[in-house]
Amino acid sequence: MATGALVVAALHSGPALCAWSPALRRALAVRDRAMDPGTVALTFDDGPHPRGTPATLAALERHGVRATFFLVGEQVERDRALAAEIVAAGHEVGVHCDRHRNLLRLSPAQVSEDLARAEAAIADATGRTARLYRPPYGVLTTAALAHARRRRWQPLLWTRWGHDWRASATPASIAAEATARLSGGEVVLLHDADHYSAPGSWERTAASLSRVFEEIERAGLTVGSP
Ligand SMILES: [Zn+2]
Repeated sequence: MATGALVVAALHSGPALCAWSPALRRALAVRDRAMDPGTVALTFDDGPHPRGTPATLAALERHGVRATFFLVGEQVERDRALAAEIVAAGHEVGVHCDRHRNLLRLSPAQVSEDLARAEAAIADATGRTARLYRPPYGVLTTAALAHARRRRWQPLLWTRWGHDWRASATPASIAAEATARLSGGEVVLLHDADHYSAPGSWERTAASLSRVFEEIERAGLTVGSP
């Protein structure tokens, strides 16, 4: 499957390649930028998390900012009320996965099954129909893209991150990396959970947010939806 291999290899190298190749990105209907060039979109993956999600929601609330949370089905099942709280606070939820696995290790049937479970868990808990989709590690396969197309989900990657999943990250390093030379239309990837990253990583991310907001404002931008 030459085409499938190309898709996988191309997207495995992540957002950088998408930025270099708008044609490929368009051909695959994968976005990595916000629709409004005057805004920056903030996205949080891997939740909900019993402590990380409330801390993130509180920081967003303090700054009057809306974000997008890419939820994990198995975590939603553990705390459906918390998933509902995200939506009640005015944020958007998208599909991340049901179990947090690299899709390259799964058969097409397993990919579809995982995504269907995630979608059902999110819909049951939040009452929302997902519009956006982002796979673990940004790794898309042809099966995942086909499933997303069938469900009318928009695949969304990102243009920058804060390496906030690492044990060595600090609030300052996260904010600096997430906002250096920030331009309009960027999509920032952060995490409100440490289920699949260094223990306590959400705490450093949550602590970075006030600086992230300051830098977005300093760049003359506002936070918008992707
Ligand atoms: Zn993830």
